[in-house]
Amino acid sequence: MNKIPPFDLSEQFKVIGAEINAAATAVLASGRYIGGATVETFEKAFAEYIGSRECVACNSGTDALLLALRALDIGVGDEVITTPFTFVATAEVISAVGATPVFVDIELDSYNLDLAQVEAAISDRTKAIIPVHLFGRPVDMTRLMAIAAVHHLFVIEDCAQATGAEWENRKVGSIGHLGCFSFYPTKNLGACGDGGAITTHDSQVSERLRRLRDHGRKGSYFYEELGVNSRLDAVQAAILTVKLGYLEAWNRNRQTIAQRYQQLLSPIPDLCLPPIDAPGRSVWNQYTIRIAEANPRAEQARRDTIRSQLLDRGIISMVYYPLSLHLQPAYAHLGYQPGQLPKAEQASREVLSLPMFPELTMEQQEQVAFALKDSFG
Ligand SMILES: *Cc1c(COP(=O)(O)O)cnc(C)c1O
Repeated sequence: MNKIPPFDLSEQFKVIGAEINAAATAVLASGRYIGGATVETFEKAFAEYIGSRECVACNSGTDALLLALRALDIGVGDEVITTPFTFVATAEVISAVGATPVFVDIELDSYNLDLAQVEAAISDRTKAIIPVHLFGRPVDMTRLMAIAAVHHLFVIEDCAQATGAEWENRKVGSIGHLGCFSFYPTKNLGACGDGGAITTHDSQVSERLRRLRDHGRKGSYFYEELGVNSRLDAVQAAILTVKLGYLEAWNRNRQTIAQRYQQLLSPIPDLCLPPIDAPGRSVWNQYTIRIAEANPRAEQARRDTIRSQLLDRGIISMVYYPLSLHLQPAYAHLGYQPGQLPKAEQASREVLSLPMFPELTMEQQEQVAFALKDSFG
């Protein structure tokens, strides 16, 4: 039996390994491992790709979000509206700067923030909104920017899963005030380690971000303010510059794979498939289906049964995310109750992410579809 992993970076390395090795070796030979021209070259190339004036590289997607909040002076006493159905980092950074996350429910179709509910969550303390383009699907940025403008709020886009996604022909990360990216290896543009970046059109903000990522340093050993150590390594910058050249082809493969899943799986009546032709361009970091619950109070979600049946057939699927952030023990102090954000909670019980990476073959996808059909009798 051939195992099918949720993602497989070794296939990619077979194709571009020689180029990656050459780029990394050149940095190693140069003796310049932190900062310098290699990092600047990547920042320029990435800003150009996204269509933003500035790009400030940093150590991770988490730090990108943290630095973005710091650069906008968001902190104690402030509220930031975001989705509870995301990776923990999105909310964690809001708490890290001393502000309070305010969770708004999602739409089940897109798994993204329900914009109809955002306005009701705005208070005197709200300073910013962090939309997450989850699984690669863009949020309706036109509508969100209009809401933000009326209430004078900043919009920090969490683009960690959506490098290359577009809304109305503009790349995500170029539409809000700041765009935050992760180069964690399994993201659409992944480093061979940790990495991240912030994009913005505002040169004053980018100057502050450059300072904050390097201890607040201005000049040799002078500090305007206190920052952090969050620089992107030169080796990672060199690797990312190589990989950026392949990103469009990889994202197109992901789109093709999503279309094939749609064709293969639409005959199974019990599956809720992600819409293939929703507005904007999704870059399909994940292909996430839902397996509707017959009985929401059942001991084990029906999804978990299907998941283990797939595993028996060698197919590793993933659950992103099994517990919505508003119900996590770490956020118990915020006082959210079960049932308060019902769509996010339903998604947690029903979602299943199928294998998705640019090198996934037709045969592998057929194997996944066959196993799912079998599970549903
Ligand atoms: C991966 C991810 C992050 C954090 O990125 P790291 O590079 O892992 O720190 C933040 N938000 C979302 C939605 C993510 O998927």
